[in-house]
Amino acid sequence: MENDKCIVLLSGGIDSATALWWAKGRFREVYVITFLYGQRHSLELEYAKKLADLAGVKEHITVNLDVLRRVGGSALTDEDLPVPEGAYPPEGTISTYVPMRNSLFGVVTGAYMEVYGITDMVIGVHASDVPNYPDTRPEWAAALEALLNAGSSLSFDRKLRIRVHTPLVGLKKPDIIRMGLKMGVPYEWTWSCYSPVDGEPCGKCPTCIQRAEAFKEVGVPDPLLERIRKEKKEV
Ligand SMILES: [Zn+2]
Repeated sequence: MENDKCIVLLSGGIDSATALWWAKGRFREVYVITFLYGQRHSLELEYAKKLADLAGVKEHITVNLDVLRRVGGSALTDEDLPVPEGAYPPEGTISTYVPMRNSLFGVVTGAYMEVYGITDMVIGVHASDVPNYPDTRPEWAAALEALLNAGSSLSFDRKLRIRVHTPLVGLKKPDIIRMGLKMGVPYEWTWSCYSPVDGEPCGKCPTCIQRAEAFKEVGVPDPLLERIRKEKKEV
């Protein structure tokens, strides 16, 4: 047990779910925070709620940051920009990047940390996102930690050190799944797809393709697809 309390940024996807289960094993009280920002795949919020329930978190905070929809500039928030199909390109920012999204998430989470007296943040940034999402690089997480320590009353008055934990740093998707399976992460309740069709993943967007390839490499059928298949049969 490292510490008393932490807060996990939870989107409802594979990475943040794995980060949540990692945190569960290390902190006595786990809070989670989920952001709505006008994302077209807002279905992920339902998955985040289910994961928070299954993990038995202390509190699930949901925050609306629809300013990101007004800013636009991303296929995730602007209906006029199509979600790309096919695998992630080897490098370069992809159109599903949302300008400054993770930085805003980090700062807003930092505000809750001040009010709740939480010094430890857990975020599921990982190596598979680094080539296409600037705000998932290890230097970004280090800069966020430095910013929170420079600007928070927790460090200023109470001399507490704020930590941004990145338990998946350096790991690619298959390794994250292997780590999560060992911890019992309920992947049947994780959502990745950017363009859901009637509550099912599209199978064509970069994150669907990355997810399918990762489960194939691990040698396990995707528990989400298994669950959806089973539920359809029962109807
Ligand atoms: Zn998809």
